[in-house]
Amino acid sequence: MSEQEFRRALGYANSAIDLLKRAEIPPYPQFYELLYTYATGVNPELNARINAIFRESTPDAETAERIYNEFLKAQDANERISSVSERMSNRISTMHEAIDSAMTTANAYSATLQTAGGDLDTDLPPPELARLAANLLAETRRMQDANHELERNLEASRSDIAALQRDLEDVRREALLDPLTKVYNRKAFDDGLLRSFIAASEHGRPLCLVLLDIDHFKRFNDTWGHQTGDQVLRLVAMTLKSNIKGRGIAARYGGEEFAAILPETDIDGAVIVAENVRKAIQAKELLKRSTNEKLGRVTASFGVAQLRPDDTPNSLIERADRGLYAAKHAGRNTVISESDLRDDEIVAA
Ligand code: GH3
Ligand code: MG
Ligand code: MG
Repeated sequence: MSEQEFRRALGYANSAIDLLKRAEIPPYPQFYELLYTYATGVNPELNARINAIFRESTPDAETAERIYNEFLKAQDANERISSVSERMSNRISTMHEAIDSAMTTANAYSATLQTAGGDLDTDLPPPELARLAANLLAETRRMQDANHELERNLEASRSDIAALQRDLEDVRREALLDPLTKVYNRKAFDDGLLRSFIAASEHGRPLCLVLLDIDHFKRFNDTWGHQTGDQVLRLVAMTLKSNIKGRGIAARYGGEEFAAILPETDIDGAVIVAENVRKAIQAKELLKRSTNEKLGRVTASFGVAQLRPDDTPNSLIERADRGLYAAKHAGRNTVISESDLRDDEIVAA
């Protein structure tokens, strides 16, 4: 961390503490995080909300808690999966109880019917017969009520389970995404590459891999701060994703490295995609949203490789990585495909 970055972060920390003191909000970690984020100005919506509150009154801990939950509390996939599975399990228990109770009532009813059947075989005097009929009627009502109760329970379960299924689907989708940039994460990349590799190998179709690494990103972070760096990661991810559209998979491969899996694309097509992404990144003049301060531009370097018959997913990644390495050595902000590399360079890299 540079001296400059350290001083900037300390400045944010001090103003967060000042705001906590001013509003007499307890300086718990989540409230500190909330006002630290406010001080950085990276989230304009959050700032607008807090400004509005400060204008109207002094925020209290309860308001801070609400805003924290709305803007910052990251419920991770595991937390959400365990919440869905707990609700699922509660619902199943309730259904078990309802079924058990319905079965008990049905058994009792069946026993009553059997006894009544036995009694009817004998010659019963009319008052006894009337009592028997009244008893059967009462038991039948009870059975009907139990049936209705079971129906109600099943109906409630049905809509509950449908909602749970939707939640589970959301969680499953989110578990594949990188939380910061919302493109696919490394796990989804690995799975996607394997799937594309198998499909392309089976059908003898072309498949390309593009690796992208932001140039001098450490320097960018040191100059403008990690939070602004995060915004750049979002921007690069969006640029990659929008250039690929439906044609492949855009993923965050690592810290400031991204990847694009391009099925049905040969090396020339993949180089065109990479060039488009490179130009689009370079063309964006970055502005700090909170202050409109000009941050200059970022660039990225690219390596491109096409699947060969003797490849494994790893050997394909290795060749794209060599292209990327060569692009860095060639001065960055450039695309190098494996066909640009001579065989001896490939061995040397
Ligand atoms: P090069 O052009 O050779 O790629 O230089 P570089 O500075 O980009 O490469 P280096 O590997 O030295 O540094 C990568 C930087 O990426 C360092 C790290 O702080 C930053 N980085 C990685 N993940 C994140 C992240 O999630 N957010 C932010 N803001 N920065 C990140
Ligand atoms: Mg890197
Ligand atoms: Mg880099």
